[in-house]
Amino acid sequence: MRKFFLPLPLLLMISTHLQAQDVARQLHDAHETYKEKKLTHRRFKHADMVPMLQSVTQPLSVSPIGESLEKRAIYQVKAGTGPTNVLLWSQMHGDEATATMALFDIFNFLSAHGDGFDTFRQTILAKTTLYFLPMLNPDGAERFQRRTATDIDMNRDALRLQTPEGALLKHMQQTLQPLVGFNLHDQNPRYSVGKTGKQAVMSFLATAYDEDRNINDVRQRSMQLIAGMNRVLQPFIPGQIARYDDEFEPRAFGDNIQKWGTTLVLIESGGYKGDPEKMTIRRLNFVAILSALKAIADGSYRQEANADYLAIPENGRALFDVLIRNATIVRGGKPVMVDVGINHYEINDQASRQFQYKSSIEDIGDLSTFHGIDEIDATGLTLVPARVHADTLESPADLAKLDLPALQRDGIVVFRVRQASKDEFPSQAVHLLLDGEIPAQPLQLEQIPTFLLMKGKQVTYTFVNGFWQDCTGNLRNGILD
Ligand SMILES: [Zn+2]
Repeated sequence: MRKFFLPLPLLLMISTHLQAQDVARQLHDAHETYKEKKLTHRRFKHADMVPMLQSVTQPLSVSPIGESLEKRAIYQVKAGTGPTNVLLWSQMHGDEATATMALFDIFNFLSAHGDGFDTFRQTILAKTTLYFLPMLNPDGAERFQRRTATDIDMNRDALRLQTPEGALLKHMQQTLQPLVGFNLHDQNPRYSVGKTGKQAVMSFLATAYDEDRNINDVRQRSMQLIAGMNRVLQPFIPGQIARYDDEFEPRAFGDNIQKWGTTLVLIESGGYKGDPEKMTIRRLNFVAILSALKAIADGSYRQEANADYLAIPENGRALFDVLIRNATIVRGGKPVMVDVGINHYEINDQASRQFQYKSSIEDIGDLSTFHGIDEIDATGLTLVPARVHADTLESPADLAKLDLPALQRDGIVVFRVRQASKDEFPSQAVHLLLDGEIPAQPLQLEQIPTFLLMKGKQVTYTFVNGFWQDCTGNLRNGILD
């Protein structure tokens, strides 16, 4: 080849990349049109999903392909007529529902027409046959728990196949021999991008198929697809995409499917500040998956370089939900300067299909190498126990008789109650103690973070259950200790 022809492939590659970015922007902006409106939060169940599957229309088709241990049907949604099979499954972990919502948005997208995306859509449907398995672990989704009804983590059951759901997934991979499999999960929302304070909104992994983490054609295709998804997503979440650790896990599906010859793309939905139901990440899944399907359909992923995948920073553990910096505590009569790391954990409320938070003090000391999704500079502030109300209440209902905002201004947020249901979280920002319990010492590891930050005699911050009075954007609830 003569020298002056060399730039041509490069130009073509740049033009393909720009085109993909353009389409990604259009998909992002149009997402609301395709968004499945019945899915408004992550704790939907199989019974909520089945009617939505029944209304999936042409050219998509829906059929049951098996059932869970507790006999909930597992469905396949099929689309396209092309020679290349692609298998996509979501929610093998029952409490990881973000991608399931995105799959329903994709079903709506694939069955639409006349919206300016016809060429894009037809390329996918003509060149590939897509097999979607939304909610592979319906029993886990019922309880909003990771594991199946057998208490087995399906993603450690790829070899033994003791879960019917895992056996079904292997059967699908073996019979369809898909070129690509999409393994769709949610990850800990406190993963950071490397050691930065940036939250990993999405993470990817080109799973290893052996201990040495070799790269064959099958795994290279994962890297290429991820490099493309990373590029189209960066404008929406700059610097907030990471890469999962690629240590080989011999029992996991991702690793084995890669080994069995299907290119495996792992997509992990992380956290996004102020969006506990992950609607933003759902939209990014919609964009990423459709972009990748197009790249599979037209083969454009082949222009991607492994190096662009390897340049994505790895997931780090540098984040707390809240980091209080430079607070003073008094120990042995002397001032001690500490940082305090706090995490908020979701506790399922089965009845309402919502959740409450229970927070915990995760670390105390020099946390200068960490970051907080929210941070408070407590320089010059002293951390002391919250104040306990003088009267013991009969039940939480008695809180209604009190002027809680006025008490809170004085740092009085702890109340003794004679009786209360252990399952109920107070909706007010109060910390309840069953009568007779002694208030916890201030600032101990794993303690519920209820305390005051004082400037002299003035209350500056009141913390109840890890949330403080100025906190916005998060559901805030009290706690029964
Ligand atoms: Zn998972």
